[in-house]
Parts: sequence; C-alpha cells; structure tokens
Amino acid sequence: MSPAYSTREQFERWHIRDCVRCGRRAAKAANWEGPICRTCFDHAVHTWGDCPDCGMHRLLPGRRSSGDEVAICRDCAAITRDFFCDRCGFEGCLLAGRFCERCTLADKLNRTLDDGTGKTRPELVPLRDGILGSQNLKRQLAWFGQSRVPEVLAALARGDLPLTHKALAALPDWRTASSVRELLMHHGVLPRMDRQLMLFERWLAQRLADLEPPEHAQLVHRFATWNELRRLRRKAENEPLRPTTTNEARQRVNRAADFLTWLADHNTGLQHCTQADLDAWHSKHYATRRPAQAFLRWAMRSGHMPKLTWTWKPTTNPAPIAQHQRLALIRRLVTDQTIPLRERIAGLLVLLYAQPLSRVVQMTIHDVITSDNEVLLRIGDPLTPAPGPLADLLHELLADRAAASGPNSDSDWLFPGRRAGQPLQHRSLGEALHRHGIPVQSGRTSALRQLVLQAPAPVVARMLGFHDKHTTRVLIEAGGSWNRYAPGDHDR
Ligand SMILES: [Zn+2]
Ligand SMILES: [Zn+2]
Ligand SMILES: [Zn+2]
Repeated sequence: MSPAYSTREQFERWHIRDCVRCGRRAAKAANWEGPICRTCFDHAVHTWGDCPDCGMHRLLPGRRSSGDEVAICRDCAAITRDFFCDRCGFEGCLLAGRFCERCTLADKLNRTLDDGTGKTRPELVPLRDGILGSQNLKRQLAWFGQSRVPEVLAALARGDLPLTHKALAALPDWRTASSVRELLMHHGVLPRMDRQLMLFERWLAQRLADLEPPEHAQLVHRFATWNELRRLRRKAENEPLRPTTTNEARQRVNRAADFLTWLADHNTGLQHCTQADLDAWHSKHYATRRPAQAFLRWAMRSGHMPKLTWTWKPTTNPAPIAQHQRLALIRRLVTDQTIPLRERIAGLLVLLYAQPLSRVVQMTIHDVITSDNEVLLRIGDPLTPAPGPLADLLHELLADRAAASGPNSDSDWLFPGRRAGQPLQHRSLGEALHRHGIPVQSGRTSALRQLVLQAPAPVVARMLGFHDKHTTRVLIEAGGSWNRYAPGDHDR
C-alpha cells in the first residue's frame, strides 16, 4: 500500500536523500551502504565482473565500506535483496515479476511476433534472436514502451501487413515504418535497400499527405509511383543512388504539384489543359518549372491530359562576367602577391580552363608535368600547356609542397587539406576565392564562352576533361547562346 502524501515536503522527507554514491539529491531506489539514487542503482544492477573480495564472477552491485569505490558482489556487501531471475536464474536487473531483462524481452517478443499459432512467425525468428542477443537489452526494451514499432511488427507477424519494403513504405506513419524497415534489414529479414531511396519514399509519403486537394494528391501519387519510384528502384539495383538523383525526383514531384495548382488557379484542370495554357506555364520561370516536364510527358502518355508540345529551352546559367572583367581578374591573380598562392592558382584554373572547384581540389602533383621549358596540365585530353605566368606559379607551389611539413605534407594532393589524406574542401576554396573577389560560377561560364569561340564545343569538352553530361550541357549551352550573338565583343 502506498502512503498518501499530503504535501510535497512530506514526500521529500520520506524519499529524497543525498545519494551516497553520486552525491546528488534524488529519490532513493535502495538503501545499501546508504541511500542510492535511481541512476546509481541502475548502474549497479548492470555491473558484472570478478568480485575482488570473494573472487566470484557475478553481478557487483555493492561497494566496499572502506569507501574506495570498489564494486563487490551482493554477498560480500551484505545486501539483503537478491537479483536472480525467477525464471532463468540470471543475476542482474530484475523487472516486473522478478524476471531478468532478457526473459522480459523474450516474453514481449514472443507475444508480439506470434503468428497466431502460439509461435513466432518463422521469417521473423532471426529478428527475435537478434534482438535477444543484443548487448543493450535496456535500449531494446525501451522501444517496446515508447514507439509504435511493436504494433507494426505484430501486424507483420499475423500477416495483416505483407512483409515487404513496399507495404511498409505505404504506411502513413513513415517514422515508425522506417524504424521497422531499418530493424528488419539489420537482422536480415528484409533485403538491404538503398538509403537514398528510403529517404525519398519517406519524403514522398509526407509530401503526398500534405497535398491538397485529394485529386491532385492522387495524380501526383500515381506519377511518383509509376514514373519516379520505378526509375529510382531500377537505378538503385545497379548502384547506390546519389542524393542529386533523388533531389531531381523531389523537384519533379514538387513541380508536378505546382503545375496542377497553377491550372486550378487558371480555372482549368489537367484533362482540359490547352496548348495556350501550357505555353503560358512555360513562359515564366522556365528554369524552375522545367522539372514539371517529366510529369507532363507521363500525363500525356497515360491519357491524363491531351497531347501537347513545348519548345525546349536551355536553362540560364549564372550570367557570365564580361571578357574584359575575366581578363582583368586573370591579370590580378598573376600579379597580386597579397593573394595566397593556392588561391591564385585555383582561380586561374577556373578562369583559364573553366575547371569546377570540385575537380580542382582533386588534382595531384602528378597532374602537373614539368620540364625545362614548359609545364603541362593533365586536365583533359590532350595535356594542356600552362601559359608562362601560371607555369611560374605552379613551380612555386610544387617547391612549397616539397618543403612543407605537417600532417598532410607527404600526400600527393596539389591542394592538401587540413585533415590527413584529404584534399582541401572545394567549398572552403570557393569561399577563399570569393573573399578575394573571384566570382567562381560566373567566371567559369565566362571562360567556357571564350573557349567555345576558339574551338568546337566537343573538342573543348574533351580538352577540359568534361565527361559528365551536366557539364557538357553547360558547355554546349554556353556555346549555343554565345553563337546567337553577332561576332564582336558586346559585353562592354
Ligand atoms: Zn547516485
Ligand atoms: Zn563477493
Ligand atoms: Zn531470466
């Protein structure tokens, strides 16, 4: 029978004590060599080892009275309470019914994972054994009390919910669903799945739940399932998805929803969308709205909207700086001794060869080939000669690198970072250039434009080592838009 406490003071007088082990004022959980707080008690019933007084290997909840804080067993500490599980005899933390944590957890798991026959569903046995084999049973018990994970596991055990990634991904409570999937993958019940794909599915569930009205949500759902998820799943079978890939899919889904809202705002719907509507949609914010085109293609293909067309336009890259500005910056990087050598060279690689900083930082000292009368750079095919002033700076940098000491002095990076074995981060290099007034993005675009004036875009692409589709497109766009201008410098 628990006494009724009329006042807070009375409660404190009965239960709050200074813990003899940690000294904090707290409710006492035991009274051994003195009052013990809950935290210290919990620690005591999870401490095992060889008792220094009797030599037995067992639970060591007690403390030597000498005050040297050495943990000893209950018998040597003359603790009257015992800690043996009523079922298995294990000595440790006992929970309700005087069962140990493992027996308690086993009971809960057996109940939860029961397939209806009184036994754990066979597919879930590895999960059960895995959880019971865990080192931290306390944490495993915690999620039984705090999360909805057991509910979902029970539904899986009974067969109310198919034991598949797909069924779990469709649950409205994505937090619980993804915990369950992590758990099942961890114990080998479900196959490992791409992390980016899981994050995307989770995002999608949330996004669709927020979409209004329901007709829009339904359409976007179908598009996302049949077009985006299908594509991502297929891709993930071959290689891990990159965050940029799933980000693209997110944009497509978002723009699809935007398009439906835009149509509704113009008092029409997908079925009745006209060419004029589509032209109007594309006439503004083209770059932002372009990801909706995946949805348009899908909607036309699947008969959700009439077959219409649009003209492809390149998206605008950051406005390039004028050529005379670019040349002035190049001159400054070559001559200005106050700018650190590293930034001068990186800036020149951007302004002369349109190299993205993410590639600049990947260069090694072997990408700079020096001979008596020239310096060649390995940035594309063939090797690119470095003009005299840049060659001088590179010589200087290589000499510095050879003389340097520090954690990264023996690495091959041309621009070593602060951490051993790592190159400089391209973001920090970008910030450094920005501080010295070098506009990296627009400077790069400007360099590209100049280069495609001198040679056909594919040749330039090969020379600069641009293999990826995106950069090549940027290059061709730069050439494309440049070619529309009449010859001559219009930048001034
Ligand atoms: Zn304590
Ligand atoms: Zn002992
Ligand atoms: Zn037990």
